[in-house]
Amino acid sequence: MKLDDYDKQRRYEATVVSSQRITADESDAEIREIVLEIAADFSFAIGQSIGVITPGPHALSHDEHFRLYSIADTPTAEAGKSRIVIAVRRVNYIDEYSGERYDGISSNYLCDRQAGDRVTITGPYGIVFEVPENKEANLILIGAGTGIAPFRAFVKHIYQDVRDWKGKVRLFYGAHTGLELVYMNEHRDDFALYYDEDTFEAFTALSPRPNWADPIAWDYALESRSEEILEMLDDPNTYVYVAGLEPVRDELDDVFARMTGSEERWHRRRAELVAGGRWTELLY
Ligand SMILES: Cc1cc2nc3c(=O)[nH]c(=O)nc-3n(C[C@H](O)[C@H](O)[C@H](O)COP(=O)(O)OP(=O)(O)OC[C@H]3O[C@@H](n4cnc5c(N)ncnc54)[C@H](O)[C@@H]3O)c2cc1C
Repeated sequence: MKLDDYDKQRRYEATVVSSQRITADESDAEIREIVLEIAADFSFAIGQSIGVITPGPHALSHDEHFRLYSIADTPTAEAGKSRIVIAVRRVNYIDEYSGERYDGISSNYLCDRQAGDRVTITGPYGIVFEVPENKEANLILIGAGTGIAPFRAFVKHIYQDVRDWKGKVRLFYGAHTGLELVYMNEHRDDFALYYDEDTFEAFTALSPRPNWADPIAWDYALESRSEEILEMLDDPNTYVYVAGLEPVRDELDDVFARMTGSEERWHRRRAELVAGGRWTELLY
């Protein structure tokens, strides 16, 4: 769905409760965890995202700039209020014609907000990743960069709210460098809460040459577990959820083509999984 097609009629004023950098100081990537509070009942489900409106005017003469952010956590709030956590990566890009650096509008606006500031939000939108009703379902979760955000809420929901999950949960988290890993690094590992669960395992995939902007090396993380993953994919009770930036699709296609033996075989397989509602992507 195109951004223009989202319903932005219902708007909420949210207050920034806190904003904290969650990438290491040495990292070039700045990802901030922002906690927002809404003085209303803003009900949402795990896997949904919110819209953020950055007031204009903006350079390209649009009055409002609208972007989406996945809900990364669902903390409890006082009665009559709601809290939402989002993880936002500060985006900038070099214009290929002018060579000038431009800052992404919404991500910089959000990363610059401080506690007490107001932000207009809309939504929530979409239930991209549904928790299967059958607790024996297996889940392969693949998150790249800020694509880890929905899975943080998702895994927490499975083990803390749904409970007694019987299926295997395999989380693959890719980033260009270890410094870009959020929620799963040496200072802070929110997933550590679930390592004791027999059903849960998490793996990281990093780029071998981080400074070269090389693709994430999914091969080591995924291919070295090929047997288990292929077995899981053969099980009709396995669901694959993928979140992150667009290039991840091609990166994963390459790896899965090698794992399944050929590109053609993988494309057929993937199409079957998608058609069966067993392969779902949230790519941006
Ligand atoms: C469902 C969904 C969930 C999302 N969840 C998250 C999340 O949890 N966390 C998160 O950080 N992001 C998330 N995103 C991405 C987010 O919505 C924004 O796209 C992102 O923050 C960048 O928006 P921006 O306004 O800062 O940048 P914009 O101002 O929109 O610019 C964004 C990009 O556009 C390109 N671009 C624009 N103009 C030019 C130009 N002249 N030359 C070259 N390149 C150009 C660049 O690649 C630039 O990086 C999600 C997206 C979707 C669709």
